[in-house]
Amino acid sequence: MSRNRDTVPIPTSIPDTQNGVTYKRLHYLGKGGFAKCYEFQNAATGEIVAGKVVPKTLLTKQHQKEKMMQEIALHKTLKHRNVVMFKSSFQDPNFVYITLEICKKQSMMELHKRRGPLTEPEVRYYMKQIGEGMDYLHNTMKMIHRDLKLGNIFINSEMVLKLGDFGLATRISSPDERKKTLCGTPNYIAPEILTKSGHSFAVDMWSSGCIMYTLLVGKPPFETSSLKETYSRIKRTEYVIPEDTVGPAASNLITSMLKNNPKTRITAKEMLDHEFLTEGYLPKRLPTSSLTVRPHFT
Ligand code: ADP
Repeated sequence: MSRNRDTVPIPTSIPDTQNGVTYKRLHYLGKGGFAKCYEFQNAATGEIVAGKVVPKTLLTKQHQKEKMMQEIALHKTLKHRNVVMFKSSFQDPNFVYITLEICKKQSMMELHKRRGPLTEPEVRYYMKQIGEGMDYLHNTMKMIHRDLKLGNIFINSEMVLKLGDFGLATRISSPDERKKTLCGTPNYIAPEILTKSGHSFAVDMWSSGCIMYTLLVGKPPFETSSLKETYSRIKRTEYVIPEDTVGPAASNLITSMLKNNPKTRITAKEMLDHEFLTEGYLPKRLPTSSLTVRPHFT
């Protein structure tokens, strides 16, 4: 009798024989496209990590295996305070496992859903860290993330932001290189991807502009009820910044990130020097209570 392979249970004790480590699988954290994510505990040291578990039954096509291997190969090379740290990858006959630095406070998506529009000091705090992570990816690692969105920006228990999910990421080998294709659908997609004009680092700046707008305004800049209409607005860069709620420096930074022409769009380095991030109150650390209620700054 053949067994439905989708129902092969995930083991509760998971050995990584290469590294001589055994993980205890603890509670469920969430799921993504292919992966289910759990807290894993290193049985010897007690260390808690995030364990992504991908059933091999979902990786039947050669191209799916390659994409996953590419994501691992890229992610492995990254080491920065604002990037989710890759720990290890291994497999057994049924599953591929990836262990990552644990981010106990979920992602900015949950924060956005609970809080709606954030205060300017909070947005300054978060955007600075997104800028630092991006400057590292672009300038140190020559990598484009290509799918920066609230759900891919994780928060650890110290309220430090960590860019994650490198499933659409790619490496740029020369400053003039333009990528022509992208296999997947980024959430905050840049106009030059939609028009297939060739794209590079600037697509991440576009996404960051959409993220900053969403954090301040409470909804994304190009949101409509139809994807076709949204794409048409993106291509025309048709969006409005509400003047009553967004200050001039914030508004200027958003406008610099949401430039239709990628050549005139602000870079990660320039963003870090922008007055919105260098002037005005920047909290050293946000309280974890700010994940659910508006903080008051004294
Ligand atoms: P996929 O790459 O398959 O889309 P994700 O990276 O989105 O998978 O992860 C799926 C879910 O697992 C996330 O929505 C989140 O709930 C959880 N998760 C992923 N990485 C971490 C992490 N480092 N720390 C804590 N939870 C995580």
